[in-house]
Amino acid sequence: KLESSSRTPYVHFRVEQREDLQRRQSIEQDLREALHSGARGLFMEYQPIVATGDHRVVAVEALLRWDHPTLGRVSPTEFIPIAEMTDLIDLIGDHVVRTATTEFTAAPWTSGLTLCVNMSRRELTDRRLLSRLTAAIEESGMDPGRLCVEITESALAEGDSRAPVTLAAIRELGIQVAIDDFGTGASSLNQLYRLPISILKTAKPFVDALDESVEARAILSSIVAMAHTTGMRVVAEGVETSSQAAKVSGVDCDFAQGYYYATPTSLDAIAPLVTRDDTDRPTH
Ligand code: C2E
Ligand code: MG
Ligand code: MG
Ligand code: MG
Repeated sequence: KLESSSRTPYVHFRVEQREDLQRRQSIEQDLREALHSGARGLFMEYQPIVATGDHRVVAVEALLRWDHPTLGRVSPTEFIPIAEMTDLIDLIGDHVVRTATTEFTAAPWTSGLTLCVNMSRRELTDRRLLSRLTAAIEESGMDPGRLCVEITESALAEGDSRAPVTLAAIRELGIQVAIDDFGTGASSLNQLYRLPISILKTAKPFVDALDESVEARAILSSIVAMAHTTGMRVVAEGVETSSQAAKVSGVDCDFAQGYYYATPTSLDAIAPLVTRDDTDRPTH
């Protein structure tokens, strides 16, 4: 009995490892095929970002979706890292920026809102990034000031030394820069404030912890205070409950995003949430 059970996990592990590798390989291959055949199965969803005070929509974050022909819906947390290991991320980045800016500008009711798009580490180091952003702005007629690129804290830390120059060039185009998932990496606000960053998005664990401890509230509160001191505004990510919504507002977070307010959906489905009266809409 002992002998067989000592063998089983080993064999099991090998099988799982092989299945893992096969899945990764087929995802890479099928993603490549999808991107080369008119982005079949790929589409964008958008999640509202709201002002914490009155829950009015100030921005939307574009999130890529993929309906695989046989695997069904594959999460970007699975296929983006695979794409990042290959040249596929360049095709994805190009597709996302073009599609999102085109869809956004085609909807007139978005005129007072900001469009946020995610940018991975490899895209940030790609020399064609600036011309790609410029082309997307020109082709869609998008106001660059209404475009915001989200870069994760870890992408910035792992990126090459040109990252600050690249960020400055993006800012030069009039585009905003946001730091995504702040608090998951090792950088401090002390390193970030020198960069041309206008928005700090705190990682979900900060909001999760709000219901569990008073210390969590103090930590988020001091991040917000420091961000404000250095001229950044803060988005609290992953708000799922009314009590978390009240707390992020209580610690003076400017904006919030999460299932409590709205889940990612088609752009059209967000239109009814955006009030017609744009005159005193807070700016993202
Ligand atoms: P992210 O940029 O931090 O996006 C937020 C993620 O949190 C999204 O997951 C969103 O659906 C999810 N989320 C929002 N509110 C809540 C909430 O209240 N609770 C929970 N549990 N989750 C919430 P999603 O769409 O699966 O995307 C995951 C990650 O994949 C993104 O994290 C981003 O890093 C990456 N990603 C997605 N689309 C793109 C893209 O077009 N380009 C790049 N480079 N990365 C992308
Ligand atoms: Mg993001
Ligand atoms: Mg995030
Ligand atoms: Mg907020």
